[in-house]
Amino acid sequence: MSQIVLDHVRKKFGAIDVLHDVSLTIERGEFTVFVGPSGCGKSTLLRSIAGLEEISSGDLFIGGKRMNDTEPSERGVAMVFQSYALYPHMTVAENMSFGLRMAHRPKAEIDEKVQRAAAILKLEALLDRKPAALSGGQRQRVAIGRAIVRNPDVFLFDEPLSNLDAELRVQTRVEIAKLHQSLGNTIIYVTHDQTEAMTLAQKIVVLRAGRVEQVGPPMELYENPDNAFVAGFIGSPR
Ligand code: ADP
Ligand code: MG
Repeated sequence: MSQIVLDHVRKKFGAIDVLHDVSLTIERGEFTVFVGPSGCGKSTLLRSIAGLEEISSGDLFIGGKRMNDTEPSERGVAMVFQSYALYPHMTVAENMSFGLRMAHRPKAEIDEKVQRAAAILKLEALLDRKPAALSGGQRQRVAIGRAIVRNPDVFLFDEPLSNLDAELRVQTRVEIAKLHQSLGNTIIYVTHDQTEAMTLAQKIVVLRAGRVEQVGPPMELYENPDNAFVAGFIGSPR
């Protein structure tokens, strides 16, 4: 059974069609990257899967269940955004455990999950710091940690590295690849960066103006792009 199925999904904002008839399947444990130019609908597609946008027509299945009208918190997904909005008055540990504390989970469980996420992300020494005392890269790792403690079936990343400088982008990209190797969760990762797409993805979905242009493993798209747009976007030599 596929982890995520989108079947003829459309999304309109008012009279404007932003997603046109998107059909896709994503397998359990797969690292999928959505790429495409700015404004092509990547965030809207991710937010629709997360339940932060309601789709206008079509069907969305997660883990075999139809989720068109399901609350975000019931979808088994956790999203990491481009701008990592941490609570400034809370420590790293408190930021990471916020969702679990709101859900009244037992303290022992919260501590264990925070420790585990901190170990994966090398944040152990920073748990008592406030966000103001962290670098941009450390803050983004806390935002990722907040998603990890929720132990979601699916991670949704929306351009998580775009606010980082070049060196941190590479480091954090490597961390995200390791995270996938160690946890094995399904990941959907949105970027407009070809290098990120080519290095992280098991499967790339190329989007253009709200439509799926081509889907496949990075090398397949590179070697056999269906058209000049895909070739240009993936960087194929033709
Ligand atoms: P991307 O993430 O690929 O840059 P988005 O999904 O953010 O693209 O946006 C796709 C299109 O939908 C853009 O034209 C954008 O202006 C439009 N759009 C996004 N969100 C809204 C909204 N809440 N209301 C109206 N239009 C929107
Ligand atoms: Mg976007």
